[in-house]
Amino acid sequence: MLKLSDVQTFYGNIKALKGISIEIEQGEIVTLIGANGAGKTTTLMSISGIVPTRAGDISFEGRSITRMTPNDIVSLGICHVPEGRRIFPYLSVLENLDMGAFLRNDRSEVAKDLEYVLDLFPILAQRRHQAGGTLSGGEQQMLAISRALMARPRLLLLDEPSLGLAPLVVKRIFEIIEKINAENNTTIFLVEQNANLALKVAHRGYVMENGYITLSDKSRHLLANEDIRKAYLGI
Ligand code: ATP
Repeated sequence: MLKLSDVQTFYGNIKALKGISIEIEQGEIVTLIGANGAGKTTTLMSISGIVPTRAGDISFEGRSITRMTPNDIVSLGICHVPEGRRIFPYLSVLENLDMGAFLRNDRSEVAKDLEYVLDLFPILAQRRHQAGGTLSGGEQQMLAISRALMARPRLLLLDEPSLGLAPLVVKRIFEIIEKINAENNTTIFLVEQNANLALKVAHRGYVMENGYITLSDKSRHLLANEDIRKAYLGI
């Protein structure tokens, strides 16, 4: 579904991605783990067209998206939930969700999806008229994921959904990530520093170090890998 071939991305003279290759099949949950500054966020921003790539190719369902604008990439069905959530703080929960559907014209299907996300996260239904900025961190993360789902993505890019959240909230969010994948066959590319959790929900994982992919395997193999356990799982 998604293929990155030898992608290089720079910030000025800083080479953040040094030629990475990643493949994701339709229906998979794939995670990208790695330390701070490894290049995980840059990988997602390269896919969604927010940061231009300098070399290599990114294709989605067989078509190159390397030079497309972020808007065109969203309209193909790729939705990015950025690190730090970035919801609209002065808009209500419902207005935030409506923004997620701004490219869609199928109003009756949009209404169904709204019901679906409010069912996934009942707390958002309770707070539907509250301004986004007044929600807790966990609720804002739920809103950010729900807003992305309102676009009915085929590929969901999630950047550090666990960041700064209490363990119980993180557990709930990861359960929902698995549910979204299982119920809608939505393909998910999950960037996480919490490697342990990420590898437990993902089918496969890639390990990134210093702008390179250094390892990729089925999640259960990575969870059992001695080097990975020492470096990323704190075991
Ligand atoms: P984190 O978990 O801290 O977000 P990451 O693995 O997502 O880390 P990136 O944020 O992709 O890593 O950063 C990759 C490299 O690019 C780092 O060396 C970082 O300092 C550099 N970098 C990221 N954003 C910029 C920017 N806007 N300008 C210059 N350098 C940047």
